[in-house]
Amino acid sequence: MTRQFFVGGNFKMNPVSREAKRALVKTLNDATLDPQTEVVIAPPSLYLIPVLELLRKDVKVSAQNCHTKTSGAFTGETSPAQLADAGIPYVILGHSERRTLFGKTRAALDAGLRVILCVGETLAEREGGRTQQVVEEQLQAVVALLKPEDWSRIVIAYEPVWAIGTGKVATSAQAQEVHADTRKYLASAVSPVVAESTRIIYGGSVTAANSKELAGQPDVDGFLVGGASLKPEFVNIVNARA
Ligand code: PEP
Repeated sequence: MTRQFFVGGNFKMNPVSREAKRALVKTLNDATLDPQTEVVIAPPSLYLIPVLELLRKDVKVSAQNCHTKTSGAFTGETSPAQLADAGIPYVILGHSERRTLFGKTRAALDAGLRVILCVGETLAEREGGRTQQVVEEQLQAVVALLKPEDWSRIVIAYEPVWAIGTGKVATSAQAQEVHADTRKYLASAVSPVVAESTRIIYGGSVTAANSKELAGQPDVDGFLVGGASLKPEFVNIVNARA
């Protein structure tokens, strides 16, 4: 089974002006993007709708978080149902910058969203030889909540905490090892079909310069990109497999 290459751009709390946001969208709208890659960008919530309206239709939009509840007295929150109603197809959940409640994954799926589910170890956990244990523990809580048919709407993002925003990228061997072990875990904890078909993407200081080698690993099915998603080199990352 071939898994479609996936590249997500997590803009985090950037950019700071509507002009800069329009410029980021224009870069993508004007670029030649590999048609084999699924491209998803996650602007701050304030910009979700304008980006959705301006952006070319072959690039999708993701929220950076959502609540578990459909509606109610939750000041400052956005519900999965509101995202779905607004035509936002994806949501990033569990990012290390806000490591979160696993109930959100169930709530987002129930609202019809697709989920980019972030997992990954801290430096201390890696140095203590506990990387795979930590990743599996983080996934376990979600695995228990999912039905077999939910898995086609899940993308797992392996994002070692020590690599996010630090300029310290995992080596392609380190990424491949965790991705392959995670796929083995999915095969035993869920099913071989889910293991084979679920995309496991890498995030953590991905740049145009390191993306080609990472993209060449058999179990690296794409990227979640932070800093570089705000730069023209994002297009090269999208095209890393082309
Ligand atoms: C991220 O925020 O998901 C991320 C991977 O950031 P960066 O690419 O800047 O390390």
